[in-house]
Amino acid sequence: MSARFLTSWPCQDACGTLKTDELVEGAPVYRCPGCDTTWIELDERTEPPHEEVPGRSGAGS
Ligand SMILES: [Zn+2]
Repeated sequence: MSARFLTSWPCQDACGTLKTDELVEGAPVYRCPGCDTTWIELDERTEPPHEEVPGRSGAGS
């Protein structure tokens, strides 16, 4: 199953899974209690994805 991480520090080994009350694109947001990574399961989305335009976010570190 594919997941999309919402943070820049993806959990490498699924320390744990907590379901949060948040929704992204209709999918429940999961959180790892070990490293605070958040992600969604792509299969659980009920809304069309947001368009991702490379280079628009301005997050350069
Ligand atoms: Zn983790």
